[in-house]
Amino acid sequence: MQNHTLTEAQLLSGWGRFPVVYSELVSPYSVAEAITWFSKTKTISCRGNGRGYGDCALNAQSIMSSLGLNYFHSFDASTGLLVAGAGVTLAQVLSIMVPRGFFLSVTPGTKYASLGGAVAADVHGKDHHLAGTFSNSVEYIELITATDGLVRCSRTERSDLFFATLGGMGLTGFIVTVALCLKPIPSAYVQQTTITCGCLREIMDCFLEHQDVTYSVSWIDCLQQSEKKRGRSLFMAGEFAADEVLPVMHRRIQHQGQVFYNEPHHLKVPFDFPSWVLNRYSVRAFNSVYFHKTLGRHCVKNVVPIDPFFYPLDAILDWNRIYGHNGFTQYQFVLPLESSLEGITAILKAIANSGKGSFLTVLKLFGAHNNHQREPLTIVSHSPTAQAEERSRGGYLSFPQQGFTLALDFAIEPSLFALLSTLDDMVRDYGGRIYLAKDSRMSAANFRAMYSRNGSDDCLDRFLQVKAHYDPHNLFSSLQAQRLGLMV
Ligand SMILES: Cc1cc2nc3c(=O)[nH]c(=O)nc-3n(C[C@H](O)[C@H](O)[C@H](O)COP(=O)(O)OP(=O)(O)OC[C@H]3O[C@@H](n4cnc5c(N)ncnc54)[C@H](O)[C@@H]3O)c2cc1C
Repeated sequence: MQNHTLTEAQLLSGWGRFPVVYSELVSPYSVAEAITWFSKTKTISCRGNGRGYGDCALNAQSIMSSLGLNYFHSFDASTGLLVAGAGVTLAQVLSIMVPRGFFLSVTPGTKYASLGGAVAADVHGKDHHLAGTFSNSVEYIELITATDGLVRCSRTERSDLFFATLGGMGLTGFIVTVALCLKPIPSAYVQQTTITCGCLREIMDCFLEHQDVTYSVSWIDCLQQSEKKRGRSLFMAGEFAADEVLPVMHRRIQHQGQVFYNEPHHLKVPFDFPSWVLNRYSVRAFNSVYFHKTLGRHCVKNVVPIDPFFYPLDAILDWNRIYGHNGFTQYQFVLPLESSLEGITAILKAIANSGKGSFLTVLKLFGAHNNHQREPLTIVSHSPTAQAEERSRGGYLSFPQQGFTLALDFAIEPSLFALLSTLDDMVRDYGGRIYLAKDSRMSAANFRAMYSRNGSDDCLDRFLQVKAHYDPHNLFSSLQAQRLGLMV
């Protein structure tokens, strides 16, 4: 095992491969090594497994990777509490914990994010309407701060630092340990219902009608020019399947009481695709084929393994290479419930008129969690509902707000930026916001307009106060933080 910090100057990017920087990557293998390194450096970005799309984990000086901190500290099967290094990936958690009958309480659409990255972006999954964000399951974290060194924080201990670090994009300190609660599962399969919907209103109604189902998501054909068909989509809802509905070979009894988890082998994209491969015609063809996946039936029910249900894109390693060497950006925004139908219709129309296609377009419903508009709850209030609400509050900069969120992928090309700037203004004017984990180009003015109105308190200012306290000289920085004015 490696026991000394590795440093190597190299070209680095996020998952979208845009932008790219030449920087020094520092990889400590222990907390002590990381602390020593911080005492020698002026500015650094924190990095997990590089699944953030844009420039949130980049700068042109030094980037510290958490991947060397990939050890498990403890697991308590009676409470589901797992304590692990921030560099452990969700895939590593699943490999070990699914056979024992536990799953992540909230998981993003990739299992290759690290625990530290999941906390720093306060990621959401297909169950946000019921479960809130990743932070909901986090009990405490340990991080190295600029002023106080290694500290532990939670809802009751340095709670300001805790709420600033959840969704704080690595700007308050380097997370080294995460303690989170896993949830028990009956099997590693999901009972899935797939419904075809003809237009946006239909799909939104479908989400609202299925709000009591734990997981839901939809894939939209974004290139429909016809008004009537705009937003035609596949809606997928699911619950973990009971052991009894599985074929006998996959039941626990056949596996010494362990949950049967058949981890898939993945295909790999071996080289960058030429940029002409993805054009409006190929994207339209893909969308058509995907839409007809249910073979014309309105509703299909089946049982599927967890990997294709939760992580369909992980099936092809390095799939980001299909966008060519210029890279791509994922544009993800959320609009409030009341303006979602009108706003998303207008945005899809603007995209269809521009002729630019998104290969994959994903729509999800967010619930009322992460809503700082609610009256502040005192941590000492002990009613179960008050405590549940306090848990689901999320971080000061957590992305979700109640409403619909849409994510679209666009290959980078010069004319894209004007379109995205127009879309930013539309999102802002409809009362929405853009997700920092996917962003690489939003303006500081739009960011402030979108993120400072999260309720009666100005969450952005609260975040900046905590940053000023724990990091007055901006040891923790990123290209995104510089662009958006997230420095003090
Ligand atoms: C295919 C795919 C699907 C996705 N689906 C979803 C989804 O459904 N929902 C969702 O919310 N997100 C989703 N994401 C985004 C992804 O989950 C987040 O960007 C996550 O933060 C990536 O984790 P990472 O370890 O790769 O972090 P990185 O990309 O390396 O870093 C992301 C951010 O976290 C900070 N960070 C990372 N590690 C630390 C640390 N140890 N200490 C302090 N800060 C740190 C970085 O500074 C940066 O700001 C998806 C990404 C991909 C590629």
